[in-house]
Amino acid sequence: MENCIFCKIIRGEIPTVKAYEDDEMLVFSDIAPIANIHLLAIPKEHFKTVQELDGGRAALVGRMLQKIGAHAHEWGLDGGFRIISNQGEAAGQTVPHLHFHLLGGEPLPWGN
Ligand code: 5GP
Ligand code: ZN
Repeated sequence: MENCIFCKIIRGEIPTVKAYEDDEMLVFSDIAPIANIHLLAIPKEHFKTVQELDGGRAALVGRMLQKIGAHAHEWGLDGGFRIISNQGEAAGQTVPHLHFHLLGGEPLPWGN
């Protein structure tokens, strides 16, 4: 998508601190962290919410969660972490490209 901030990050048009990248997924540091470690995991395919999942995208999201689990240690998320994904504006979604917030690196209070 032309004007999507996260698509611009994927295309390299906005600099970011990357933690992980492969052919279908990117993980990078949130620009305004709310925990000691605050990463964003996004699919390279642009879609907004889980309401737009078809079978292929559901499998993609499953692989994303699997890779988040597999790489949590190297990202400093040992000791527990939280995955948050806001779906739609009323839930606080400000970037219309599906993303998982990965919060950790410290004991977390409930909520966000
Ligand atoms: P949302 O509010 O949609 O759940 O989360 C969007 C997140 O994207 C926010 O936590 C915000 O700080 C982050 N964000 C917005 N613009 C940028 C940017 O240009 N670079 C990075 N790294 N994060 C961004
Ligand atoms: Zn996008």
